[in-house]
Amino acid sequence: MSVSRPINLLWLQAGSCGGCTMAALEQGASGWFEELKNFGLNLLWHPSVSEETGAEALEILSRVESGADKLDILCVEGSILRGPNGTGKFNRLSGTDRTLLDFSRSFAALADYCVAVGSCAAYGGIPAGGPNPTDACGLHYSGAEAGGALGSDYRSRKNLPVINIAGCAPHPGWIMETLAALASGDLTSGDLDALGRPKFFAGHLAHHGCSRNEYYEFKASARTLSERGCLMEHLGCKATQAIGDCNQRAWNGGGSCTHAGYACISCTSPNFQDLRNHHVTPKIAGIPVGLPLDMPKAWFMTLAALSKSATPERVRKNAEADRIVENPKRPK
Ligand code: SF4
Ligand code: SF4
Repeated sequence: MSVSRPINLLWLQAGSCGGCTMAALEQGASGWFEELKNFGLNLLWHPSVSEETGAEALEILSRVESGADKLDILCVEGSILRGPNGTGKFNRLSGTDRTLLDFSRSFAALADYCVAVGSCAAYGGIPAGGPNPTDACGLHYSGAEAGGALGSDYRSRKNLPVINIAGCAPHPGWIMETLAALASGDLTSGDLDALGRPKFFAGHLAHHGCSRNEYYEFKASARTLSERGCLMEHLGCKATQAIGDCNQRAWNGGGSCTHAGYACISCTSPNFQDLRNHHVTPKIAGIPVGLPLDMPKAWFMTLAALSKSATPERVRKNAEADRIVENPKRPK
């Protein structure tokens, strides 16, 4: 997008906990607002962080909807609640009788680019879990099925599908880098994976770069939370099947789920909220059901058996402790 004027960005919150906004606010040493400015992005309005409320906010929305202000990028955070009976009335914008379903459809039709921020807006996420009484869905998907609130044929004015910055919440860098790529005209449909996620983070697995990789290699596993070993064998870690570079770029300057001892729940995937047995690995005959992507089961079983038989004592002991109890020894 090469325009000399500022690039207008409008952010809507639908069925959201606000966590995606919290993630965005963590971005950058100089802060999110400064970074937006540096990339020529003008935040027209955001329901949580903008000063305008009430009539002033509605005036901004009305100027966009009438075309008086160009809408370059629409960001939607949170699931779109279609209930009851397809009316969307479970989620109305305060001070209006209009639903977020209606606003999202209207603005998505005007936007050069439409961005779903977080797994709720992308695929339905947490509000779509269980019996889904509000009929929650994503903008362009309902779970892994194309459709959602906008319909599977939706394309933005620049002919792109909804860009899904999946994650619950998504990494602040994923949000900012997507917006920066759009601002500089550097994001095409070829840069998205089959579920609309930008490949710059969707081309990695959350397992890459985990601080527990040595334990994974030797299949030295933690048996309870707080132990240092790999969380895959017993504690349900799905990072070998989950896209994301969360273990390569630290959160809040230094962490990730697995680094903090919490098994990856694959929050960048559609339907992650329906996972049963959080922190327990489902097994059949003692073999984990969810094996790493791209690895035939027989290979995994053979490698796992070999690795276990070669596990150094230091690694085995440390895996089942909450701190390092055995240091690396110098060879005699
Ligand atoms: S994706 Fe997660 S953090 Fe974002 S609004 Fe939904 S529940 Fe909250
Ligand atoms: S804890 Fe999860 S991410 Fe870390 S090494 Fe084990 S499988 Fe990989």
